[in-house]
Amino acid sequence: MKNISKTERNKLKGHKGLAIWLTGLSGAGKSTIAVELEQQLFARKIHTYTLDGDILRTGLNKDLSFSEEGRRENIRRTGEVAKLFVDSGTVVIAAFISPFAGDRKIVRELLDEEFVEVFVNCPLEICEQRDVKGLYKKARKGELKNFTGIDSPYEKPEKPEITLHTHLQNVEECVQQILDYALPKIEWKK
Ligand code: ADP
Repeated sequence: MKNISKTERNKLKGHKGLAIWLTGLSGAGKSTIAVELEQQLFARKIHTYTLDGDILRTGLNKDLSFSEEGRRENIRRTGEVAKLFVDSGTVVIAAFISPFAGDRKIVRELLDEEFVEVFVNCPLEICEQRDVKGLYKKARKGELKNFTGIDSPYEKPEKPEITLHTHLQNVEECVQQILDYALPKIEWKK
């Protein structure tokens, strides 16, 4: 009896696993970029899966609040799930506000070389103008507490592998920038 090794999994899939972690304010463009990035990878026959903060919060993490403690646990669990996907040889895309540098550091340490931090950078004013889900309006009215950028901090990544400026670049440019970085990293050399 012998366990299947990571190398064997990579060989079967024809590429290596990787976690592409998108962090940024609500409305910065994480989900939009995740969807388009996954399409681009999928078209190249790469095995992918997207973990979206909003979706995980309705399932695996639905017991967690938006307090600092709840947010920390949200990211810790997601990091562990991302690691399982990476070990399976999958390219996992995580789209989470993940506002605290310390929490992202824990995920980075967990995944080591297989972690790519993408700072989806967009000024708060623009995110608020976009207000995709109407959440900024609610937060300003005090109907939503602990909203990142309003009454809860966002700690910018200090050394992200990639920084995107979604108020200056279109979605295609942002996705291309990630592909340029990620594709060589997942290449499987026989
Ligand atoms: P988040 O997941 O970070 O909360 P969303 O992806 O839900 O953000 O919303 C981002 C909004 O910004 C969408 O309406 C999207 O069309 C728009 N947008 C404009 N430019 C970009 C860009 N370069 N990348 C991603 N989204 C963009």
